[in-house]
Amino acid sequence: MSRIDESFGSMVFSDSVMQQRLPKAAYQAVQDAIFFGNRLSPEAAEVVAHAMKIWAIEKQATHFTHWFQPMTGITAEKHESFLSPGKDGRPLLEFSGKELIHGEPDASSFPSGGLRATFEARGYTAWDPTSYAFVKDNVLCIPTAFCSYGGEALDSKTPLLRSMEALNRQTLRILRLFGDESTRCVRATAGAEQEYFLIDEKIFERRKDLIYAGRTLFGTHPPKGQELNDHYFGAIKPRVAAFMAELDEELWKLGVFARTEHNETAPAQHELAPVFTTVNLAADQNQLTMELMKRIATKHGMVCLLHEKPFEGVNGSGKHNNWSLATDRGENLLEPGETPAGNARFLLLLCAVVEAVDEYQALLRCAVASAGNDHRLGGHEAPPAVVSIYLGQELTEVLDAIESGSEYVGSERQQFKVGVHALPRFPKDTTDRNRTSPFAFTGNKFEFRMVGSSASIAEANVVLNTAVADVLGSYADMLEGAEDFDAALHDLLQQRIRAHKRILFNGNGYDPAWVEEAGRRGLLNLRTTPECAEHMMDGKNVALMERNRVYSRTELLSRRRIMLDTYSKVLRIEGRTMAGMARKEILPNISAFTGELSRAAREKRSFLPEVDVSYEEDTTARLSALLGEAYRQLTALESDLATDTESMEAQERAEWHRDHMLRHMNDLRAAVDAMESLCAHWPYPSIGATLFSVK
Ligand code: ADP
Ligand code: MG
Repeated sequence: MSRIDESFGSMVFSDSVMQQRLPKAAYQAVQDAIFFGNRLSPEAAEVVAHAMKIWAIEKQATHFTHWFQPMTGITAEKHESFLSPGKDGRPLLEFSGKELIHGEPDASSFPSGGLRATFEARGYTAWDPTSYAFVKDNVLCIPTAFCSYGGEALDSKTPLLRSMEALNRQTLRILRLFGDESTRCVRATAGAEQEYFLIDEKIFERRKDLIYAGRTLFGTHPPKGQELNDHYFGAIKPRVAAFMAELDEELWKLGVFARTEHNETAPAQHELAPVFTTVNLAADQNQLTMELMKRIATKHGMVCLLHEKPFEGVNGSGKHNNWSLATDRGENLLEPGETPAGNARFLLLLCAVVEAVDEYQALLRCAVASAGNDHRLGGHEAPPAVVSIYLGQELTEVLDAIESGSEYVGSERQQFKVGVHALPRFPKDTTDRNRTSPFAFTGNKFEFRMVGSSASIAEANVVLNTAVADVLGSYADMLEGAEDFDAALHDLLQQRIRAHKRILFNGNGYDPAWVEEAGRRGLLNLRTTPECAEHMMDGKNVALMERNRVYSRTELLSRRRIMLDTYSKVLRIEGRTMAGMARKEILPNISAFTGELSRAAREKRSFLPEVDVSYEEDTTARLSALLGEAYRQLTALESDLATDTESMEAQERAEWHRDHMLRHMNDLRAAVDAMESLCAHWPYPSIGATLFSVK
């Protein structure tokens, strides 16, 4: 056996481990919990907990924790020792079924978006048997959902599981319509390609903006950026290669199959793609990936930046969320079928995704909204803030033909009828050329590219799962009673394509003309987080979530509140960091430098009255003017920081931060960056030095 085979998943209490270690009945009980959401009996839980404990102790675990994802976007864990005092005073290793299934961490410090005003401060965690337990740093981690006592979701896993249930329910109805009686369960699958930057730790430590904000708040563009494209897929530097090797190994142990790692377009930018899995596992695994990336980078003297836009002028980082539907038999439902019947099902599912994305574009955009991602979306080489779908030429032509009922003038020149004709064969790679689309069909899955690199993928998938489930439900309602199924299906698709084709766009998403065109089509262009928040509670969005039992109105409100509060807080932190850097480092530095220049000019003149001191004089004059401007912007920013915004309503406060704080930050930066290019020395490393810091 190779080293990978041996270590892969060695730290995971996986299906095969359970098969080996659990008595048949207990194993079956866990299976029923995984596939049908059945509750585990207290007896079965006891058996599973015991087996899990023995296994974990063999893996050197001394503690256990309920591992959960509060609405901070990252994970939380509170370690408890297995040890408890035995009767004779000797330690006893204990872990009961109750402890496996249920935990009660103190919830009061996690954001609840107002839920806590109405409900008990304490929350509880409940085991998610669909995500495997694992051992990390001598701790048995049990993936759990986190709820309030009233049952309100306080995390990102609970709604994700609920949305998977809705999707399963509705997709099964559709499969039954096509005569499939054997599929028992349908799940969304996801593979989250993760982009990140690696920079040298010593450089990082000298930039307060990177330390506090995770992104550079000042800095001119480096002389060399990504224009030569010489980084993309280029040779990997030895230090980075060593980091990647260790990261792979650690991820493999945790059952995360990290597969490809390559350099991305920007200098110092890299990407990791895992093999896809069920969406809630993928969300858990992506959290582990981010955590390990940060930790392992430090071991190699580097810092991993997961911010969406750490450097202006070069590519930002995203998370490409590849999404599809799989049956319990492993069939990918978005694989274009080879037979006319297979194609009818495929086209129906495709159409459902198109409708879902068009109808709920605001919610999708909300799911990826954050202060960090606002800088990326619509920025250099990032998907625009307008949601649209790329299907590729062949599929678009098929949909056009269905819509108009006319000739399909593709390669085969025939009239296209759903359920009667076979789809043209389109080679997989021709569907994947457009990298500028925020939502692209890539052969047998969709790729949603708007998710930010630091965000959990949960929110985006909650919206996607729920919206698609809802549309499929409405299709099933219509088709279940149809007398002529094929005709009803054809009419349905024709009507839906007509209603939602505005979301389809195969052109260049970076082109400013597209933004105008999108406006004419009535598509939303929500550029900032506060704009997104305004749409989140639109009647149809609330209705969607309530109808599918994914979020209650209260839960949705709490999420909106957290989104807005976080936005304002992030801007405040950035504002404070900039003000501090400007006042303590940058402005004094410029003042000293202009003093130096004037002194130099004076000294030269005292020797030689006619000497040319235009460099000194011009530079001093330009710097002094900019210094005055920077100082004006700094005082404006400081006055923003002194403004008490606590009494404002969350939406108003976020807008205030965007319209005041962010504007003054941008103006201050413009003045400072202009000075940086004139000044001989600078108090911290330049962006160029930062980007090219790893040798
Ligand atoms: P690319 O052309 O971008 O390299 P790949 O097909 O190799 O495309 O996969 C890119 C990502 O998509 C990987 O993380 C992969 O695991 C994921 N992926 C592939 N198939 C599916 C699927 N059916 N469902 C979800 N994700 C998938
Ligand atoms: Mg990709």
